[in-house]
Amino acid sequence: MQRRGEAIVLSPSDLMRFQDCVHATMLHLRYLNGEPLAPAEDTASARLMQVKGDSHELAFLQTLRDAHKSIRTIDKEMAFQDAIEATRAALMEGSDYIYQAALSGGRWGGFADFVERIDRPSRLGAFSYEVIDTKLKRSPDPKHVLQLVLYSDLLSEVQGVEPEHIHIVLVDRQRVTLRLGDYASYARHLRKRLEEFVAKPDPTRPEPVAGCDFCRWREHCRREWDATDSLCMVAGIRKDQRLKLEAAGVKTLAAAPPCVTCLQRSGWSSRDRLGPMPNPSSAAIVVCHGRSRTTALS
Ligand code: SF4
Repeated sequence: MQRRGEAIVLSPSDLMRFQDCVHATMLHLRYLNGEPLAPAEDTASARLMQVKGDSHELAFLQTLRDAHKSIRTIDKEMAFQDAIEATRAALMEGSDYIYQAALSGGRWGGFADFVERIDRPSRLGAFSYEVIDTKLKRSPDPKHVLQLVLYSDLLSEVQGVEPEHIHIVLVDRQRVTLRLGDYASYARHLRKRLEEFVAKPDPTRPEPVAGCDFCRWREHCRREWDATDSLCMVAGIRKDQRLKLEAAGVKTLAAAPPCVTCLQRSGWSSRDRLGPMPNPSSAAIVVCHGRSRTTALS
């Protein structure tokens, strides 16, 4: 996501992030609007994944070179508008492959790893192109499919026909081909939702997801969870468990009923008359405060 003048320009990576966590999109918007938010550096493992991803991409490029395919490479360092023009010229030329194809349309833009020439007539001539992406995965990931659908839509605007397929080269070099029509409507729906959200954001809050460890806003969210004594700090707590607790009025760790072990450690016994044990049944979960407040017990 970038600000160009008054406009916010979106990329397929923004769509993947939005699908993962709407709050990440909100924080990015606030950052672009000048709020003093500091994105975190990439973690060492994220950097390692990036290096591995780059080498997987280059290995695929080498297989194309070894097969003597004609390849035009677009320089990602040039101004984006120049990269779009260079990509358009390469598409008209009809090379077998364009590497790092710059594509744009409306408020969207980005670089597709590769586009591949196929024998299907289009505005370009007796041929058109389809999008190929290299991914460090053993099977296609739905969020990568989203990305490819969006690139395909941007490519359609240049060549005047919609690609029939999208392709992913997996980590084991296996190539998976998917029908664009099977995924396009969900991806376009999500694209519209992101556009609407950017135009008029609904309130969001940080909700832990699998990608938090790699998110640039992870430090900001952790500070917020800490400051609000959030139930999100309970390791392994599921969203449905947290929502049940919140619906029962338990909105912070301090307010969560302790587990029996914690109570017994603090001297509680069913024979004592220290007061009734808090009944967790309404929340269907109790939180163990005794082990660094990190365990959710169903
Ligand atoms: S750290 Fe997690 S909850 Fe916070 S913005 Fe990132 S993905 Fe969302």
